[in-house]
Amino acid sequence: ARQVTYSVIATPSGSYYSSGITLWVSDQYTRAARGGTGAAKCGANYAAGLAAQAEAQERGCDQVLYLDSAGEGKLEESGTMNLCLVTSDGRLVTPALGTILEGVTRDSVLTLATDFGLVPEERAVTLDELRSRAQEGTITEVFAVGTAVVVTPVVAFKGDGYEFAIGNGTPGKQTMALREHVLDIQHGRAKDTYGWMRRVI
Ligand SMILES: *Cc1c(COP(=O)(O)O)cnc(C)c1O
Repeated sequence: ARQVTYSVIATPSGSYYSSGITLWVSDQYTRAARGGTGAAKCGANYAAGLAAQAEAQERGCDQVLYLDSAGEGKLEESGTMNLCLVTSDGRLVTPALGTILEGVTRDSVLTLATDFGLVPEERAVTLDELRSRAQEGTITEVFAVGTAVVVTPVVAFKGDGYEFAIGNGTPGKQTMALREHVLDIQHGRAKDTYGWMRRVI
């Protein structure tokens, strides 16, 4: 098309997921391949995710966790949320950009990390690392971030033939502190130190 119409529909959204979600690790579906449109918020990405989301729901999970499409077992993200991990040595780890959506909430949380005593780290994390470090207790919290879900605790993962919890399976302290802080900035209750707020009406 030489000419396009860009339309935005805005609706209020309720707060959901805050008591902790379980992610279904899909080994059948991937979300985005290199050279594709995974980094953009464009419609086709979401149509392609519906089958995986239905599979997650059949397995009693809330959302999907996608791994990289090259089959290297690297964590990517969820259908509409980026993924973050907190380690026992004080790091906030999130998969590096490439095929994932460059979420604004991901960016905000990376910026806020140091205020919470966490060192932000963008790098590849494999499912094997997540699983073994969750079991040995050196990955202590996992959360998902996105405009709609803000910061939402991920308390467990399930895949074909296995499942494991994060920490004791309840929302983590750093997760909830970050969530409250992002909400406080959004609602004008906390100082907007980084100049993120814009008046629209
Ligand atoms: C929207 C979205 C996110 C979160 O992005 P925000 O800018 O924080 O809302 C993460 N992953 C995917 C695939 C998304 O569509």
